[in-house]
Amino acid sequence: MSQFWSPAIQSLVPYTPGEQPKVDGLIKLNTNENPYPPAPAVEAVLREFDTERLRLYPDPDCHALKQALADEAGLSRDQVFVGNGSDEVLALTFMALLRHEQPLLLPETTYSFYNVYIDLFNIDARHIPLTDDYRIDLDAYSSENGGIIFANPNAPTGVGLTLEQISDLLIRNTHSVVVVDEAYVDFGAESASQLVDRYPNLLVTQTFSKSRSLAGMRVGYAYGHPKLIEALERVKNSFNSYPLDMLAQQTAIAALQDRGYFQHCVQQVMDTREWTCEQLTSLGFEVLPSQTNFVFTSHSEVAAAELMQYLRDNRILVRHFTKPGIDNHLRITIGTPDEMTRLIECLKQHPSL
Ligand code: PMP
Repeated sequence: MSQFWSPAIQSLVPYTPGEQPKVDGLIKLNTNENPYPPAPAVEAVLREFDTERLRLYPDPDCHALKQALADEAGLSRDQVFVGNGSDEVLALTFMALLRHEQPLLLPETTYSFYNVYIDLFNIDARHIPLTDDYRIDLDAYSSENGGIIFANPNAPTGVGLTLEQISDLLIRNTHSVVVVDEAYVDFGAESASQLVDRYPNLLVTQTFSKSRSLAGMRVGYAYGHPKLIEALERVKNSFNSYPLDMLAQQTAIAALQDRGYFQHCVQQVMDTREWTCEQLTSLGFEVLPSQTNFVFTSHSEVAAAELMQYLRDNRILVRHFTKPGIDNHLRITIGTPDEMTRLIECLKQHPSL
């Protein structure tokens, strides 16, 4: 019956179901989730929630959450958009802001979902290779374009750009929207949200899924000029005017307000990342400098595909990409110190390491 499908649907492949196996007892270092639970304030919201209220619709405008996010970034509420995870925010961004005559510019190696939207919405795109040391080469983003999108820090490399580099790009590129996907920004990079007031064509997306440990609640958001936000609201309202359910709105606010816990968890992940990098390096791995909650690594003597399978056989999941150019790398999420110790111990048992 697939003859009834729209042409763009034929080539669509689901993104991560295979990365979410329904098996207990695995060490799961494959989808960049936070190893720590959400903030105690989130637990309190859930414990004290009055279920009677569920018969009502949630606030369609997410007023309180938008205000909390605006306060967090020193912006106003009309510069904030929220959606079901940053994946939805990005999908709406592609629909509302990145479909133009000129090609969209993006790195050849970046978050793979962008290409799904490019195909789905039939967007003309130019993919620009990373430099030899896996950096986004912003000097190469100078041709006429209908928009620019990249992740900062980039995924799956973990390598970040500085705010100066992003400002330089914005100064050179004033005629199209520049989208900076900051899913991992809290783990050691600087947010471009502080540039939003200066550049009306900048949209910054962020998420509660990583540094706030709320992947299960699906809350993402964007900061940008009110006109960019209005475009997203228009598209959103054509699909579903209730972007977030009641619990998602309330738990997200609680997670934002629990600053001490947030900073503690982020610091813990960064410390564990440093330890993991040292250990991997001493086993002969090359590890890219990471500003995220994962590391991107390769070994000259053992193929990444083999290592991924070896770890999987030992109940440790890491991510291997088959895309040429990065197919000899593994992306390893930073877990708890105990999980990372078990990963390193397991690698030490590998006959070739
Ligand atoms: N951007 C990047 C670069 C990501 O890696 C992810 C997570 N897979 C997302 C966006 C989407 O995250 P979420 O929808 O959970 O907010």
